[in-house]
Amino acid sequence: MKIVDVKVTTVTVPLVAPLRHASGTHWGRFVRTIIEIETDEGIVGIGEMGGGGESAELAFQNLRQYLIGANPFNLEDLRFKICNPTASLYNNRTQLFAAIEFACLDIIGKKLSVPVYDLFGGKVRDEVDFASYLFFRYPDDKTKKGEVKNAEQLVQYALNLKKECGFTTHKLKGGVFHPDYELECFLALGDALPKDRFRYDPNATLTVTQSIEFAQAIKGMRIDYLEDFTWGLDGMKRLRDIAQMQTATNTVVVNFEQLAQNIHLRSIDVILLDTTFWGGIRACIKAAGVCETFQLGVAVHSSGELGIQLATMLHLGAVLPNLSNAADAHYHHLTDDIIVGGLMKYENGKLKVPTGPGLGVEIDREKLNKYAELYKELGSYPYDKDPMRPDWFPISPNDRWAPIL
Ligand SMILES: [Mg+2]
Repeated sequence: MKIVDVKVTTVTVPLVAPLRHASGTHWGRFVRTIIEIETDEGIVGIGEMGGGGESAELAFQNLRQYLIGANPFNLEDLRFKICNPTASLYNNRTQLFAAIEFACLDIIGKKLSVPVYDLFGGKVRDEVDFASYLFFRYPDDKTKKGEVKNAEQLVQYALNLKKECGFTTHKLKGGVFHPDYELECFLALGDALPKDRFRYDPNATLTVTQSIEFAQAIKGMRIDYLEDFTWGLDGMKRLRDIAQMQTATNTVVVNFEQLAQNIHLRSIDVILLDTTFWGGIRACIKAAGVCETFQLGVAVHSSGELGIQLATMLHLGAVLPNLSNAADAHYHHLTDDIIVGGLMKYENGKLKVPTGPGLGVEIDREKLNKYAELYKELGSYPYDKDPMRPDWFPISPNDRWAPIL
């Protein structure tokens, strides 16, 4: 089998409301690059990539010379061809390769008439548990709804999401306001949902001292782990040693070199595996195997996804025996999807693993065109900027918190 064509389409799909985070904002929509890899047997595989509010269309077009004529079954060869570890120092293509891998796995599954999870030993679960991913939000431009900036709004928002989707684990994306203020908001969540589990992720903006104070203040809550409270393996190790609580990261252990360091250092307990950051589903499974050996936990990380990427997260979650925590997804913030059937539906906080051949999801051509047009109209946005504070940028550790208005 040979790859004969690669189609690339950038889409933008609206969110319920703009999501605020430690470095900026998702400006009320996600920008995603969708690839379709066509083979000489007429089988087409699909993949997806983010990119901080920008299109990756040109970068994929530049890889045509590597892809045309290649056999989509030869994924290890393709990996070295596209992102050789030393050549990649000049052009980091790991994330591009991830989307290509998704599409090739989709092709392989379709060719063999099996779901992707069957290529990796079969599923050990039929559905994957998800956390509600709570953000401080600006109101939507059009509806003027969706604002979350205080404890009362945050609690109501969590209760609504729990009612709608059945989540029993809740993650708050922090690092927006001063940690003392965010601590009040987080504790209010714990009071409102005493039986549920929680995690707080300020994207490594706190000092080690602030991290320790925050961790000690939330000890009465059911905490999964302390996610990226402060920067670096050593900072997180100081936090872990003093707070005596589990830690997690999706920032300082995102490749095998860092994973090895973490095993020497014993800094992070739960590795949050992102099918894009790590360079594909296969790399995540390999990393999860290392974690299993050393008794580290894993969870599925979300870097913002539409249904194709979500399917990769579900297939990953389906095959990992040591998936010790609910997965993260931005998915419930979307107003629509580009896959046939529209947005996947949560039940009891879980999503079903697709069972069709390949990734088990297909592109809805009409929706793809609609959101490609919307991208042409609205263009990219800088993920690491806040439209309401155009000259602002954070430092690390941060002391430039958003004003509490
Ligand atoms: Mg995180």
